[in-house]
Amino acid sequence: MKHMPGVLIVEDESAIAELIAVNLRHNGFRPTWAMDSASAQRELDAVLPDVILLDWMLPGETGLALAKRWRANPRTKGVPIIMLTARGDESDRVAGLDAGADDYIAKPFSTKELLARIRAVLRRRAPEQVGGLVSIGALSLDASTHRVSFNDQMLKLGPTEFKLLHYLMNHAERVHSRSQLLDKVWGDHVFIEERTVDVHVKRLREALGADAGHMVETVRGAGYRLTSQSTRVVATQTTA
Ligand code: CA
Repeated sequence: MKHMPGVLIVEDESAIAELIAVNLRHNGFRPTWAMDSASAQRELDAVLPDVILLDWMLPGETGLALAKRWRANPRTKGVPIIMLTARGDESDRVAGLDAGADDYIAKPFSTKELLARIRAVLRRRAPEQVGGLVSIGALSLDASTHRVSFNDQMLKLGPTEFKLLHYLMNHAERVHSRSQLLDKVWGDHVFIEERTVDVHVKRLREALGADAGHMVETVRGAGYRLTSQSTRVVATQTTA
């Protein structure tokens, strides 16, 4: 089952909101619409979307004030915000980005451009959070409930091991170097040593147990790979 990213549209002009919503639905997103700051806040309190499209000029609190507030709140600060506005000059753009918006799009915009920007912020902000349920062989990971199971047996993973496994499962069968994993799983924390990756891979294998642990392979001189074709069986055969 594919995860449909939720998009909260905060826009007081119903014609624009409707047009955006129709296009989003058409392209595999789940849009919800709030027409003012109060209802936007209620929506956010109820459920966190994957992206917020935020109009600048709203009745009551402005989009700019909302962006600042949501960025300051630990619960909402990780949700990407794209500001929508008719105001296209540079000082507004800077003010929007300073308030914590991830991107900025000036009206009128094409649907194509909007979709491209939504996809871009989703990729940038949380590459390891995109996608709900992933299964490789008997190993399953559900990102929405943070559950990992092997042969329907629940496994307990630490938060870093979970993120690491999620990334590896979303990019299975490919070899990832330590520095690539640091970049994709640890994000901006450039001061972490590459050896840290080895430590967490070891912990991940331990948490996965004997059978699933073998799916995380060390590729000598290159890095790590998650594979459904474990070489464990092959290793018992004679190698020439
Ligand atoms: Ca408006």
